[in-house]
Amino acid sequence: MNQQHAIVIGAGIVGLSMTRALHAKGWKVTVIERHPQAQGASVRNFGMIWPIGQEQGPSYNRAIHSREIWLDMSQKAGFWAEKTGALHLAYTDLELQVVAEYVAAMKHQKSAHQLTPEEVLQKSPATVQQGLKGALWTEEEMIVDPREAIAKTGQYLESLDGVTFEWGKAISRIEGNTVYSGQKTWSADKVFVCSGADFETLYPELFEATPITKCKLQMMRLVQQPQDWRIGPPLCAGLSFIHYKGFHVAPSLQQLKEVYTAQHKELLDLGIHVMVSQNGLGELTIGDSHEYGLNFTPFDTKHINDLILKVLKTFAQFKDWEIGSSWHGIYPKMTNGATEFVHQVDEVVTVVNGMGGAGMTLSFGLGEEVVASI
Ligand SMILES: Cc1cc2nc3c(=O)[nH]c(=O)nc-3n(C[C@H](O)[C@H](O)[C@H](O)COP(=O)(O)OP(=O)(O)OC[C@H]3O[C@@H](n4cnc5c(N)ncnc54)[C@H](O)[C@@H]3O)c2cc1C
Repeated sequence: MNQQHAIVIGAGIVGLSMTRALHAKGWKVTVIERHPQAQGASVRNFGMIWPIGQEQGPSYNRAIHSREIWLDMSQKAGFWAEKTGALHLAYTDLELQVVAEYVAAMKHQKSAHQLTPEEVLQKSPATVQQGLKGALWTEEEMIVDPREAIAKTGQYLESLDGVTFEWGKAISRIEGNTVYSGQKTWSADKVFVCSGADFETLYPELFEATPITKCKLQMMRLVQQPQDWRIGPPLCAGLSFIHYKGFHVAPSLQQLKEVYTAQHKELLDLGIHVMVSQNGLGELTIGDSHEYGLNFTPFDTKHINDLILKVLKTFAQFKDWEIGSSWHGIYPKMTNGATEFVHQVDEVVTVVNGMGGAGMTLSFGLGEEVVASI
């Protein structure tokens, strides 16, 4: 039988995950990426592989499976990855109650421990101890540096037999089983469109008919910390409890939301919840804000970055606060609560998109599921 051939459009984490899964099933794959290297959401994030953010059930299981693939990929492609776990810090009795409820609900399901302030300090020297009531400690989370991990995963896949990358080629049209970029064309049995925030360029009508919006997030990176100083696990605080669906199992969450709505209206309006992760070089990635809509100002707002830093300083302390770079990223997000958009346009073309804020966490697993369903 002839080897089947797939075209993957986009070399972000979704396109790379599809490529990996197709190759594993014996497909020949041609990846076509508009830029000389991936530069969308997949290289602009925290690099948090974050099962704790997912609801229990299929999403959580997909996150855990994706995490195994990340660990395997870091070995094969040779990039830094660390099994860090995660600390969610509690500075009020209500936040601590949410921690306790989450730990109780997760008993016999997954790792979730309530730590005392002393135990928190042992895990991370970067936590603000004043007023600390305790923390949630979970073990499954891990960190990669997205800039390195996405580039090296692409290089690794490109080295495999039967996988070809066409960098710097924007696909402007898809007709039948043929895709077009200027004078160049490629044909295959199947086409997977993994174009991230650029969904509407190739499929404007479908984009309009899909329950999807976009989200702009502001981020910063602090310089390498001196003397190889490490913060330990990524740190989050109370605002993250109300951001992630994983915490919905805590009955007091609603009350916490009401308290934050009264106390931190501006932060909530700007979608600010603050997290920090450290990469292998010792730099600290911090963020973020969440502005939803289809049209964003291209300019970043200093006020938002100032608010992020202000919140961060309530729970984290570092050796060096110098900002090395700042940027924003945009991802498409489903508005109907779905964790992804997998849509068969016709016999040949499938759109894989809509990963929202969890594409790094879920895509490797999703890629295998999509390929298994072909
Ligand atoms: C600031 C920020 C922080 C985040 N933090 C995390 C996190 O810590 N953990 C987590 O799990 N998720 C996180 N996310 C979400 C995650 O980054 C996204 O879900 C994921 O990167 C989306 O991947 P993608 O491949 O769909 O899109 P992209 O990475 O944007 O890739 C799409 C690619 O397609 C290419 N392309 C588009 N159109 C064409 C065309 N016509 N022809 C050729 N190529 C084309 C683009 O150039 C691009 O390289 C974060 C996102 C942001 C923005």
